Amino acid sequence: MMDEIIISGLKIFAWHGVYEEEQEKGQTFVINAKLRLDTSAAGESDSLEDCVDYGKVCLFINDFMRINRYNVLEAVANHLARKIMVKFPLIQSIELEIGKPEAPIPLPFDSVSVKVERSWHKTYIATGSNLGDSEEIIRNALENLDADENCRVLRSSKMYRSKPYGGVEQDNFYNSVFCLETLYSPIELLTRLQQEEKEAGRERIVRWGPRTLDLDIIYYDDLILERDHLRIPHRDMSSRDFVLLPLSEIAPYKRHPILGLTTLEMLARIKENYVLTMKEENE
Ligand code: AMP
Repeated sequence: MMDEIIISGLKIFAWHGVYEEEQEKGQTFVINAKLRLDTSAAGESDSLEDCVDYGKVCLFINDFMRINRYNVLEAVANHLARKIMVKFPLIQSIELEIGKPEAPIPLPFDSVSVKVERSWHKTYIATGSNLGDSEEIIRNALENLDADENCRVLRSSKMYRSKPYGGVEQDNFYNSVFCLETLYSPIELLTRLQQEEKEAGRERIVRWGPRTLDLDIIYYDDLILERDHLRIPHRDMSSRDFVLLPLSEIAPYKRHPILGLTTLEMLARIKENYVLTMKEENE
């Protein structure tokens, strides 16, 4: 259970809405927010520096809602929730409700509102490259992701070398795994990673063939997701030495949410293979 800062009944006059009248005349919006974070540092130090300043959060909400214009409350809530989390990085998650007590409904009512919940999600991403200046390409991708306000790179493993598999004759791969906190949903994250792959010039010519950059989502919190084009945890991670070895460096005890095994336990299961195929780059 996380600590909470609660803002309730904050009133802001703004111009969001589908109807022309709403966009021209404006109306009052009512905001309720729960900011979840660890307040123990501020609790100990008794200093505003260690806090999320709720006054500043309210002013930020006011500015955001008056500067931007959206048609629907869902869009206001989604964008505002993320921006608050980017602006105040101590907040781990937010519940944000935006109400419209004067909404154009021809019936008596108290209010209508949209409530969203957003949080920083902890993900692990595996990288691979065996075309071009692989180390530079991987480093560059990490820098780009870290510069994206919806992402923050927390830690990265060393670079490893692995032999290609799948039977295609090609150079050895460079591999690493990094831990990324993100506000993106799993699908949004996949799209964002694919954009990074594309920028690195990846062309899918041969299956299992050479590639400038491959970015795979290994874990997304403890989520289990099975879609046609996205499976989390990554389907092949538990048998891939070039994922498990770098992962064991930054998350040795993290448990696979389906198999219930830690990274080290999964690595031990495939040990005979990995000694043959893996070599640490820095050795
Ligand atoms: P590959 O060519 O091996 O990198 O496969 C890429 C395809 O795998 C993408 O088109 C994704 O839609 C799909 N995919 C399924 N699960 C994942 C995952 N966890 N991370 C990244 N890509 C995934």
